[in-house]
Amino acid sequence: MGEFASFNLGGHVGDDPGTVESNRRLVAGALGVGRDHLLFMNQRHGCDVAVVDGPWVGETPAVDSLVTTSTNLALAVLVADCTPVLLVDRVAGVAAAMHAGRPGMMSGIVGRTVDAMADLGASSISAAVGPSVCGRCYEVPEAMRAQAAEISPVAAVTSWQGTPAIDVAAAVVDQLRARSVAVQWIAGCSRESEELFSYRRQHRTGRFAGVVRLLPAHAEEEHHSEEEQHAEEEQHADEEHHTQGRV
Ligand SMILES: [Zn+2]
Repeated sequence: MGEFASFNLGGHVGDDPGTVESNRRLVAGALGVGRDHLLFMNQRHGCDVAVVDGPWVGETPAVDSLVTTSTNLALAVLVADCTPVLLVDRVAGVAAAMHAGRPGMMSGIVGRTVDAMADLGASSISAAVGPSVCGRCYEVPEAMRAQAAEISPVAAVTSWQGTPAIDVAAAVVDQLRARSVAVQWIAGCSRESEELFSYRRQHRTGRFAGVVRLLPAHAEEEHHSEEEQHAEEEQHADEEHHTQGRV
């Protein structure tokens, strides 16, 4: 409601918890998993990764990446300017959802997520990088831009005002490509698009999500394309969620 219209999926941002929970239930249903098998994380802008194989028991772990080989789980990343990344190796059967803001990008969340997937057998990873605040809209002090440039030269950009800025998503994409991950970058700037939640535009606002689920393998040939299609559908379905029914 209000600042949270429409389809906020983020808890702890001031929205009605019942509304958030019913939104989360809709996402779980759309992906064909039970609500307790749709996993959110306690995102901390860190670079810790959790490998998961079932619903949370006890506290939600404070990590910024979830990795699984289970076809019964859907993994979600919540954002309102940070970069959401969904990764999958369809052949090896490994999927991940990653939250990459500026601190995560700088502290190596991309490499650690790819490493965790590789440990589970992933060798040919594809990633969908969702919409986030763009480089032109992410004005920062000069020193902060210089720090980011040391981690990733492509992060150092200029804002719409001509001042120092950071392009976190470009750095994330560059880091993924450096690890031989095939990247599909979905267009959109959260701050400039009214259809996306943006912390920088609105401060008090909701969160949209990227959600990934591995599909069970059936026939050899078919399941590859099926999973590919599914991964794309999830990203699209996700985008639909925050564009539809805006009031
Ligand atoms: Zn922008």
